[in-house]
Amino acid sequence: CGIIGCVGHDTETTDVLVEGLSTLEYRGYDSAGVALADGQLAVTKRSGTIDELRKAVDIEQPDGPVGIGHTRWSTHGPPTDENAHPHTDCTGDVAVVHNGIIENYQELRDELGEDHTFLSETDTEVVPHLIEEALETGADPETAVRQAVSRLEGSFAVAVVIAGLETVFAVRNDSPLVLGLGSDGGEGPADAYYLASDVPAFRAYTDRVVYLDDGEFARIDPDGWTVSTIAGEPVEKTVDTVEWDP
Ligand code: GLU
Repeated sequence: CGIIGCVGHDTETTDVLVEGLSTLEYRGYDSAGVALADGQLAVTKRSGTIDELRKAVDIEQPDGPVGIGHTRWSTHGPPTDENAHPHTDCTGDVAVVHNGIIENYQELRDELGEDHTFLSETDTEVVPHLIEEALETGADPETAVRQAVSRLEGSFAVAVVIAGLETVFAVRNDSPLVLGLGSDGGEGPADAYYLASDVPAFRAYTDRVVYLDDGEFARIDPDGWTVSTIAGEPVEKTVDTVEWDP
């Protein structure tokens, strides 16, 4: 339902994510979670309100220079801690958040077979396992994410972090996603980049945005941002300036 991702805040990434999610509460949700990458991944997620997530991160104290967060509005599987996003692969090195519905998830799960153990009832969990499978065949991380998302049918906005990388990958099809570019238009560092399902999630930090269109694939890291097709063709994008305050 709500997505946020961020790179470039050396510390306090968790606060950026959790407070970003709280600006998306108006969309409705039943669970919330974050994944932080600092070498390894740390996932904290709970059914219930963002306050429940705040209590959990106060205890677990995840932090790192890159992360993603999600508020879930269940479509596949009830609102439980296990079904909350982010979802991970078997190795725990790939974490994914997703808005929308993956229509062909059962077919993809069946194809992955018994080597992959699923911990949730969601359509989403197939995505980290597809990425894991691609990584195991030797694909580099970006190619692995592209290969995985090219298999998905339905409406989705997906964001991905992988252990050891200071990068967030994202793709949209029929579900909104927007990038936020570090600038002096807010209180964030100049080399910080954001992505979210809606601008309020990062409006405190920047006013420069790039709206993604259907079929577009984005990556953000502390050196910048790129947008391309899922197949990898570069796409020219315009940077817009948001005039309003949240
Ligand atoms: N279909 C996914 C789920 O049920 C994502 C729902 C959403 O958009 O929050 O977990």
